[in-house]
Amino acid sequence: MSSNSNTIDWSFYKKNGFTPLVNVSGTMTSIGASIMVADAQLAMQLISPHFIKIHELQSSASKIISELTGSESGFITASSGAGITLSIAALMTGKNPGLIEKLPNTDGLKNEVVVQSGHLCNYGGTVDQAIRLSGAKTISFGQSTQVQDHQLYNAINENTTAGLYVVSHHVVEYGQMSFDCFCKICHEKGIPVIVDAASEYDLKIFIDKGADIVIYSSHKFLGGPTAGIVAGKSNFIQACYMQNMGIGRVMKVGKENIFGAMSALQAWKGRDHEAIRNTETSALELWQQSVTGFNGVKANIVSDPTNNPLSRLKISISKKTFKSSAASVAQALSLCEIPIIVRDHEVELGYFQLDPCNLDDGHAEIVASSLQNVLKSASIKPLPEVDLDKHRNSSIQGYLDWK
Ligand SMILES: *Cc1c(COP(=O)(O)O)cnc(C)c1O
Repeated sequence: MSSNSNTIDWSFYKKNGFTPLVNVSGTMTSIGASIMVADAQLAMQLISPHFIKIHELQSSASKIISELTGSESGFITASSGAGITLSIAALMTGKNPGLIEKLPNTDGLKNEVVVQSGHLCNYGGTVDQAIRLSGAKTISFGQSTQVQDHQLYNAINENTTAGLYVVSHHVVEYGQMSFDCFCKICHEKGIPVIVDAASEYDLKIFIDKGADIVIYSSHKFLGGPTAGIVAGKSNFIQACYMQNMGIGRVMKVGKENIFGAMSALQAWKGRDHEAIRNTETSALELWQQSVTGFNGVKANIVSDPTNNPLSRLKISISKKTFKSSAASVAQALSLCEIPIIVRDHEVELGYFQLDPCNLDDGHAEIVASSLQNVLKSASIKPLPEVDLDKHRNSSIQGYLDWK
């Protein structure tokens, strides 16, 4: 690791008039998800000039999805968000083309989806809307930070079509019903279980534990192109796939992304996870060193809240001692000449995190030096305050500023 911002080639950005940036926030749609693995880039290029029967391509995708997830079958759609909508649509219509065409009109169909309140998060859009887009209704149960079994039993009735379980750092972290318990109660009541595991490394665990449909993003840890991977029991998956002649048509995924996602799955099998982990650990240690010696600044390596084999550097800043807040430091990093985008969704609690899962050559060093520079200048003169309420609404502002 010897390169720095001067030796990195930023010409792509310059040529196109784009703002360069370094991502230490994780896999975020708003900044381009992840660095695509070389195999997937090549696969997309290889398939581009050819015609191909899409059903044949998706059958081939089904085989690789089954191999990696242990599911009976699977297919590729536009995104995990699309996967949620299509799965719920499928559980309402089955393989009846008439019903598939009629959606989002659900007259006469079981159309309620049970999900615990603490799981109704926002991943750029809301889980609730992904459900409702199919025509179904969201039936939330429990309170945001406490869920008990009787609440799920009570939420399920003769109109229930599915149970949705969301695995994410975005969901409430405590007081939630475990997957095992959710699955047991739903199945006892004859309700199929869908798992949104968009950002999970473990491609097998939920299928193993009896989930009926599990959804993963191709463009997160897998390093594939933007796409959703839907895996599960054949009967259900076929009904999901059939939604492509219905509401799924507006969530279309083309041959390039299907083949690219397949290739990312293949590459995942052969990925040297240990080597990647070692590179990530050296980045974390480099960053940890770069913030030592600043009064009121603490840096700890923390593990992933949903047990992905990934650690992050949590930088906690005492505003009282350091005079600048964690939010101010995060903002200053985003305003550097090469903007550094940190993981700041809990910044009001006095910390932000650095995620090493998407570093290109030389990025770790830029992060270390920018971090040190920002902290140094903050020690001399406190950074401008951040209005946390404004920060909370900033994603809306991003849309309003666009033209
Ligand atoms: C990222 C994410 C999504 C959305 O995934 P896309 O493939 O970008 O639509 C949904 N749910 C969870 C838990 C996520 O992490």
